[in-house]
Amino acid sequence: MERKQFELGDIVQMKKQHPCGTNEMEIIRMGMDIRIKCVGCKHSVLIPRAKFEKNMKKVLRSAAERQQKEGEEGPSAAE
Ligand SMILES: [Zn+2]
Repeated sequence: MERKQFELGDIVQMKKQHPCGTNEMEIIRMGMDIRIKCVGCKHSVLIPRAKFEKNMKKVLRSAAERQQKEGEEGPSAAE
């Protein structure tokens, strides 16, 4: 079985969508349980890691990727 890779700050896509209509979640806490925040309505839920791994489809945007992008779009680029 393939082990899913994810880290704090990642935006992930879930298999089941949230009642608000979005299925994108941000990982805001990692531990025995994972706390994720809905990108659409900002509602956060704490779920066991095993359940999270089962319900997660894929990482849409990794935290490292987003930081890199923010660096490129620094003050020097905005003229
Ligand atoms: Zn939501």
